[in-house]
Amino acid sequence: MSTATRPPDSSCSENPVGPQATTATAQPVQKSAAAAERQLVLDGFSRSRLSLKTIDWVVLSWMVTMHVGCLAAPFFFDWRAVAVAVGLHWLTCSIGVCLGYHRCLSHGSFRLAAPVRFFTTLCGVLSGEGSPLMWSATHRVHHGRSDQDGDPHSPKHGVFWSHIGWLFLHRSAEHREALYHSYAPDLARDPMLRFFEKTYMLWLVGFAVVMYAIGGWSLLLWGVCARIVIGYHTTWLINSASHIRGYCNYHTSDNSRNLWWAGLLAYGEGWHNNHHAWPRIACYSHRWWELDITWQAIKVLRFLHLATDVDDRIPSADAVPPGGSLRTNR
Ligand SMILES: [Zn+2]
Ligand SMILES: [Zn+2]
Repeated sequence: MSTATRPPDSSCSENPVGPQATTATAQPVQKSAAAAERQLVLDGFSRSRLSLKTIDWVVLSWMVTMHVGCLAAPFFFDWRAVAVAVGLHWLTCSIGVCLGYHRCLSHGSFRLAAPVRFFTTLCGVLSGEGSPLMWSATHRVHHGRSDQDGDPHSPKHGVFWSHIGWLFLHRSAEHREALYHSYAPDLARDPMLRFFEKTYMLWLVGFAVVMYAIGGWSLLLWGVCARIVIGYHTTWLINSASHIRGYCNYHTSDNSRNLWWAGLLAYGEGWHNNHHAWPRIACYSHRWWELDITWQAIKVLRFLHLATDVDDRIPSADAVPPGGSLRTNR
């Protein structure tokens, strides 16, 4: 799907600029400013910017630390620590990222009761995949520019780039503000999300300290490092592999695919063509064999009246996605 996904009160589409856009005198100026801001955002994600001078050394150091910790984890093997890591992986990746960050915050596929929304967002924070504002705004850019220039992580710029390389590109505070203003103004107004924006690293470091205090090195390496690294790569597979391999249920204007093993590893996110075709629908399983584990959790929350306004439409097999266009290169 080539158009951006947005909740009703936000604006993520590409604004037309020019005399045909409006006849009012003030509006063209505003639209030009908005278009310039949006272009600044897209340029900030450009692969051509990556060089030794533009590497984000904080992100690189964090990634190296987590991966070294993951590689060291087998030397501190403990079944209890592994069990905790498996449980935390589901909690942070499926409940935190897939349900909280992605389907609730980024796409507004349902509403959550306030305490549940706080909890799922906190779980997403503990995944280490970025603050909820950064994750959601960047993801909206992905939907708005999918597999075109400006897409933060398209495999068209290389598999390595789409999987992990794009994360190492340093982006300025000005870029971050423009990103939030252009792509997530609704979320940027949310006090809870602003709170997590300011305290993001404290939660991650604090959680690591608690894990070490409870279970020593084995719980720190398994419950934090290995769990986070495995979560990273399963999530990143959606950006890389699910835009390269797999089958399509729908014609979309990007290269999104349904990839069964990514669907299993990433708690349902691997049915990526379904999602790009119908971004707001909460269930990513559109055929009987497509298992969407995160959707099961959403159904439980709906049964408990903790999730409401759930967009549970399943399109028919011949449905044409809104904004979707037929492609010939698949
Ligand atoms: Zn995608
Ligand atoms: Zn999405």
